[in-house]
Amino acid sequence: MKRFCFLLAIFMALLASQYAEAHTRALYGPNGTYFCIETNSDAQQVKLRIYKDGQGGKPIKTINMKLDPNDSGQNWWQAEVKGDLKGKFYTFDVKYGGKFRGESPGIWATAVGVNGKRGAVVDMDETNPHGWDNDKRPDIPAKDLILYEMHHRDFSIDDSGGFTHKGKFLALTEPRAIRHLQELGVNAVHILPSFDYASVDETRLDEPQYNWGYDPVNYNVPEGGYSTDPNKPEVRIREFKQMVQALHKAGIKVILDVVYNHTWNIDGSNFQLTRPDYFYRKNADGSYSNGSGCGNETASEREAMREFMVESVKYWVDEYHIDGFRFDLMGVHDIETMNAIRAAVPKDIFIYGEGWSAGSCAYPGEKLAMKANIQQMPGIAAFSDCMRDALRGPWDSDSKAAFLGGVKGNEESIKFGIVGAIQHPGVDYSKVNYSKAPYATEPTQMIAYVSCHDDMCLVDRLNASVKGITIDELIRLDLLAQTVVMTSQGVPFMLSGEEMLRDKKGVHNSFESPDSINHLDWDNLERYPQVMEYYRGLIAMRKAHPAFHMGSADMVRRNLDFLPVENCLVAYHINGRNVPGEQWGDIYVAFNAHKRARTIQVPEGTYTVVCRNIKCDPSGLTTITTKDGKVTIPAQSALILHN
Ligand code: CA
Repeated sequence: MKRFCFLLAIFMALLASQYAEAHTRALYGPNGTYFCIETNSDAQQVKLRIYKDGQGGKPIKTINMKLDPNDSGQNWWQAEVKGDLKGKFYTFDVKYGGKFRGESPGIWATAVGVNGKRGAVVDMDETNPHGWDNDKRPDIPAKDLILYEMHHRDFSIDDSGGFTHKGKFLALTEPRAIRHLQELGVNAVHILPSFDYASVDETRLDEPQYNWGYDPVNYNVPEGGYSTDPNKPEVRIREFKQMVQALHKAGIKVILDVVYNHTWNIDGSNFQLTRPDYFYRKNADGSYSNGSGCGNETASEREAMREFMVESVKYWVDEYHIDGFRFDLMGVHDIETMNAIRAAVPKDIFIYGEGWSAGSCAYPGEKLAMKANIQQMPGIAAFSDCMRDALRGPWDSDSKAAFLGGVKGNEESIKFGIVGAIQHPGVDYSKVNYSKAPYATEPTQMIAYVSCHDDMCLVDRLNASVKGITIDELIRLDLLAQTVVMTSQGVPFMLSGEEMLRDKKGVHNSFESPDSINHLDWDNLERYPQVMEYYRGLIAMRKAHPAFHMGSADMVRRNLDFLPVENCLVAYHINGRNVPGEQWGDIYVAFNAHKRARTIQVPEGTYTVVCRNIKCDPSGLTTITTKDGKVTIPAQSALILHN
């Protein structure tokens, strides 16, 4: 017995020295489990309760945790529980001002029971799928990324998809999914919130429930609703890893949508139950600030919140081999925290976010990770709402059209998106819709897109904003829009299902709409084969030609020049000879949003046409010889040619 205690003590000391400072969690060992939690300094008592199940029942053990004697701040509480606790559950309950605040798994649970109410003791090594040790992040530099934003349930829930694991992580391990993504050519899936969130009741998964999941509960645990059994804590962890592994094998990166800017609620949040009012910003009058538009906003500038974000991101990289992060409302976070995260993870981890907030934040604007401050955050990108709205129309009115709808005056904003939001002599920034100055230092700091999960999808937006639009016109404009995106020097991003002409029946905010609104209809691939074919050709062209993703602002300034702008006509030239690895010489790209054909002037000569009149084939559609240098671009379409 003495020997056991001695070994246990050594084991605990090792674990404690490694983790106690950074993490509030349970650390499993076969002979004992170590628990620790950080509280505010006025905490009076912490109870640790051990349970047999993830919900219900009485505790099988209740332990009074002790303050760490080595902690001068009097904030760290710990307990060592002997025996093999694998499969058991636990909660912390912290007393302040004579009252216990209520049970929670703490902020650092890495495994939880159903609905994330209790932490779970899991041997993480046992959650690794076969071959996990050999799993590697695909080596794809930021400039080569093509992002595909998807929701698990949208993607695989409909019968037409033919998936076995409908709406689950495992759907992405199925050949149908992998084959589709590979055929399309995207090389990174950006999965909507896949950490444990609140709005889907994991005890009722036999009923259809839908939510995007922007309501975080446990930041460091996969969502149970996407697993085949949320009652078994190890299942969601293993299945998430299987998903990552299958995608990595297919050469596809996995990017996690992270939502550190707010929590589902304040009173019941794991933050508030363990460290009341520490993690949230408040207004001068003592009320909670609401920069997230969801009722609260976290305080990334505070030491423990910043550390939490850094450690959480690192954890997903280390434990789940995640390749990148999309920060929801990144503009709520401070610049210093975003830079600390950038510095804490390997260079190939791609980081981007929404460079805005959803309300005013209780923190100085010049210190926030807003789009306009991206130049102070090297290696971090922001979505270009300038380009998006110049194409589809403004965010505040679905019925208003822009470039795609033949509205003039958006040309400089389109050009801004073409160069990747960098300083370029060919762009008149005074005429750009939102950014009156370049915001990116390098083009890989701009995400190029026309649609995402927010707002209407592209089909709905075109239907809502272009009067009397026909299906033929709709397809033409859809393909034109994605050609602008996929030839941008920024990092292109598309919403899942656009390649099958998805619609959401006109629903603007489908965050909790039923499957009938959000699902992908895979039969559309047969209904509109020309759409998928064009997307494939376009993406293949981008991947094969470095001229479309030079990755360096200097190279873009040197090698890309614009042709004169006309109303609803934007065209440019790339000197491919100066781009390393580029096989094409002079490349001309033109976007015509008019309802009639237009012409551009290029040097006389013979050109190979790779994109014209809603067809795109990187190996060439035809060749043309022009004597007067005039080349026609059919109505509402893109043209790409090269010599
Ligand atoms: Ca959940």
